[in-house]
Amino acid sequence: MNSNIQPLEFNGDWNLSPSLESTDHIDLKDKYGLFINGGFLEPLSNKYFSTINPSNENQISLIAEAGSEDINLAVKSAKDAYENVWSKMPAKERSKYIYRIARLIQEKAKELAVIETLDGGKPIRESRDVDVPLAAAHFFYYAGWADKLDYAFPNRNPKSIGVVGQIIPWNFPLMMAAWKIAPALATGNTVVLKPAESTSLTALKLAEIIQQADLPPGVVNIVTGAGSTGKLIVNHKDIKKIAFTGSTSVGKSIMKSIAGTSKKSTMELGGKAANIVFDDAPLDQAVEGVVNGIYFNQGHVCCAGSRLLVQESINEIFIRKLRDRIQSLILGNPLDKNTDIGAVNSKSQLDTINKYIDIGKNEGAEIFQLNCTIPDKGFWCPPTLFTNVSQSHVIAQEEIFGPVLAIQTFRTIDEAITKANNTPYGLSAGVWTDKGSKVFNLTSKLNAGVIWANTYNKFDPTSPFGGYKESGHGREGGLHGLEAYLNLE
Ligand code: NAP
Ligand code: MG
Repeated sequence: MNSNIQPLEFNGDWNLSPSLESTDHIDLKDKYGLFINGGFLEPLSNKYFSTINPSNENQISLIAEAGSEDINLAVKSAKDAYENVWSKMPAKERSKYIYRIARLIQEKAKELAVIETLDGGKPIRESRDVDVPLAAAHFFYYAGWADKLDYAFPNRNPKSIGVVGQIIPWNFPLMMAAWKIAPALATGNTVVLKPAESTSLTALKLAEIIQQADLPPGVVNIVTGAGSTGKLIVNHKDIKKIAFTGSTSVGKSIMKSIAGTSKKSTMELGGKAANIVFDDAPLDQAVEGVVNGIYFNQGHVCCAGSRLLVQESINEIFIRKLRDRIQSLILGNPLDKNTDIGAVNSKSQLDTINKYIDIGKNEGAEIFQLNCTIPDKGFWCPPTLFTNVSQSHVIAQEEIFGPVLAIQTFRTIDEAITKANNTPYGLSAGVWTDKGSKVFNLTSKLNAGVIWANTYNKFDPTSPFGGYKESGHGREGGLHGLEAYLNLE
């Protein structure tokens, strides 16, 4: 990086009037039980933990922590519902319930968006425009497939699996619940789902929606708790499949625990995606894409473009544009519609991000951060980039899961491909160029499950999503996402 390049003369504090989304219309209880067999039950463990708002550290609600007796009850209710009701119901009837859930999510979109932002720290613009609409879209999409499985898999006699255990992370809480529950129901399975400890609320609101939709009791059970609750689900003998989204390390430990059993699995794990910008790319558009790729949801995105590979001939101008754009981002109250960068999800995640930022500095990389006022309370990390990064640096190899971009340069296409593929992960990548032939060349050579061209972080329920290498196995979304919940001949 040329140190003569100065950032814009701007201190990062916009003087915009606050535009806060109201919290008047939301309905939250002080305490949530476990959603088992169609009702909310006190946990047999008698244990509760608190969920907080990461932008001010205030407690929002108390959440039940499911123990082994609770999990036994949840799995039993899912098994009974599978054997007696759901697997016997004509598929077109099943799809009516799924449509109903989709419509209720739309009706309650505003409330769900506000709760997602309160509990998780992401900007309200993102919860409102991305998380909640995509959750509804997923239910709509899979509702349409429920009675067409024989057409989706001709001559393969598709059959449901039974009770599936689903474990999800904290970065897209409602959307991940939708990605898991919708295809499982469409294929005739019943569910025991555990949201992440720090973001259980929208899954519990979804449980209320499921009640309202009159889904037969036990078809979906939502059990809250920490990693130990997740383990109980993984190891339960009546669970036939584990659908896990989370870190590679926990994914590996789950694979070890189910090795030698007949349990099926899909694993959506970590990533270290490269955004590759060629000198023929529309640069301003690419800057927007790179910013969206890494700073969307504070970088809490498995497929985040956390590495930037920029062609050497445009490096200087591109980094200058990128720094200028970063300096115009607004960090602050996630409920404010002006906010671009919300709160980091938890204290422990902030500690992890800061640890990597220190590692980057100690490795000799050059740091640039948004210069802005950080709120007194809550967990915050300004958008950060590192230049002078080499391939062997830890910040170029390991998933940080925060708003930290590691930038490297390349000269030739082959060098870009080699560098992009040189990590243990293979979830996603982005290519920015004016030339379609270059896009096709790269998409065939990059080891990534999802590759975006001249855009980034675009999701659609019709499109399969998932990774290679240590980013996991199996696909969610599209027809591939149905296959993962079926036994086929
Ligand atoms: P995590 O620590 O692996 O946790 C994921 C879920 O597993 C949480 O519900 C967690 O519960 C639970 N869990 C923890 N230990 C467990 C165990 N031993 N057995 C069973 N369940 C267990 O991941 P995270 O920190 O929540 O999420 C960040 C990670 O998820 C990143 O690595 C990211 O790349 C990945 N991710 C991947 C995708 C994808 O589609 N590939 C999508 C989103 C996120 P608690 O949280 O309550 O402890
Ligand atoms: Mg929370």
